[in-house]
Amino acid sequence: MTTLTQPTEVCLNEGLSTLVADAARVIQNPQVVERLSRDFYWYSPVLKKQLDGKSADIVVQPVSAEEVQNVLAYCYANEIPVTARGSGTGNYGQAVPLHGGVVLDLSLMDKIDAITEDGVAVCGPGVRLAALEAEARKSGWELRCYPSTVVKASVGGFLAGGSGGIGSVTHGGLRDFDTVRAIEVVTMEAEPRLLKYEGAKVHDILHAWGTNGIITRIWFALTPAVEWAQCAIAFETFDEAFTFAETVANASEWTKRLVTVFEWPIPSFFTPVKQVVRTGKALIFFMIAAAQLDAFKAAAEEAGGEVSFAGPHASLKTTPLLSDYTWNHTTLWAIRADGSYTYLQCGFDPVRVREQFAELKRRFGDDILWHVEFMKNGQGVVVPGSIPVVRFSTEERLNEMIDACREIGVSVANPHVNNVEGGGRYRDDNVQLLAKRRLDAKGLLNPGKMATFARATVTEVAAAPMKEVAAR
Ligand SMILES: Cc1cc2nc3c(=O)[nH]c(=O)nc-3n(C[C@H](O)[C@H](O)[C@H](O)COP(=O)(O)OP(=O)(O)OC[C@H]3O[C@@H](n4cnc5c(N)ncnc54)[C@H](O)[C@@H]3O)c2cc1C
Repeated sequence: MTTLTQPTEVCLNEGLSTLVADAARVIQNPQVVERLSRDFYWYSPVLKKQLDGKSADIVVQPVSAEEVQNVLAYCYANEIPVTARGSGTGNYGQAVPLHGGVVLDLSLMDKIDAITEDGVAVCGPGVRLAALEAEARKSGWELRCYPSTVVKASVGGFLAGGSGGIGSVTHGGLRDFDTVRAIEVVTMEAEPRLLKYEGAKVHDILHAWGTNGIITRIWFALTPAVEWAQCAIAFETFDEAFTFAETVANASEWTKRLVTVFEWPIPSFFTPVKQVVRTGKALIFFMIAAAQLDAFKAAAEEAGGEVSFAGPHASLKTTPLLSDYTWNHTTLWAIRADGSYTYLQCGFDPVRVREQFAELKRRFGDDILWHVEFMKNGQGVVVPGSIPVVRFSTEERLNEMIDACREIGVSVANPHVNNVEGGGRYRDDNVQLLAKRRLDAKGLLNPGKMATFARATVTEVAAAPMKEVAAR
């Protein structure tokens, strides 16, 4: 790891202010700097202890790739750490600078350049996903998948820090089916280059937490827009609810964007939509094609469910918006109800899933509450994933739960560690690490977050294959 210098605030401000067209976009106000140095790491009591109080020294808000290049050249020359930031909705402290320096807030790079005729959005990293969804729908397209933080989260932050979400039951996650067509990045070098990664090469950059380049433009594949409806269905037991949800998730005749199952008492946390909750019962939230809603309600009733709510999903402003309670929003509602809850991220074996649930229930009782999201994997198989709400007592107990999951074949992407490798989206082929060695040899981009990175020697970097293509 580089020994990072800590230049004074005054010298940082003087140096950086000349690099962007408007010096007002270099921010030193301590409250603002502190706010823009945080994300949702506090979901994890473990990370909260580690990351509280960590902050950048200064924030820079570039508006173009050229300004990003200017800032990175300056930071490279002065060995100043740079942490990229979209909207700061990440959960693992991804956007929290561990070594001070600059937070590069990309939120002003929010231009949508084009929605192409064949359904690819070309845009800046700071575009909010909800804005992109709205723009895409104007020409008959929609996002393939988005996180439940869609209203706030940026496209660049989703690519660098997220994995999938609403829509993934049909279209998989960010890593699948060429959803991310191309990414332009700025490198951290003496003379930062602007490189375009296309096709399988995008995996060098995806989900690397901004450690191996600053994303400045994205080519994001869309899918034809559907008119959606949303629907809540209550079942007596979690087992019945899971069975119905699993059937729908796997059935190609249902056009769906969301299939989420909650074990009781999770629905009791959803106070703003208590009218759709049935005391003591498991609940499923669906997004289903509006044209299929009547047939779908009939199928749900035939399976023994009670349709507690059905209505249009006209836009992301529709009230109620059931997706606001799914994916990692479920954890938010749980923490609001009881501050001792936190969460895990588990992947089940579609064949042994019931047995795996039963075993973990037997061992941990209601200290683990199941909340299942169905998601298509890269091979086209729909698999049950869970972001269970878990009661936190000690780190040892949390680790005991993680070990117990892994012992019975339930994979865990541990959201209580602050590095790319620990969080479960690190690639076995090391391409993210290899890219970091080529694009950020000094280790100045979000330092400390890629645990396997050790500062490459100049010789190693020179010897590394340079396959990148200049973007402009
Ligand atoms: C309530 C809640 C629900 C969530 N639900 C989901 C979900 O359904 N699915 C999901 O995948 N995630 C989910 N998340 C996590 C998070 O919202 C997503 O990962 C989101 O996409 C992050 O976007 P952001 O703009 O806030 O990124 P940030 O938090 O700002 O950044 C995330 C990471 O990307 C890096 N980064 C940001 N911009 C760039 C850039 N231009 N170039 C290089 N690196 C960059 C940052 O350094 C950081 O490491 C949820 C989080 C919360 C709090």
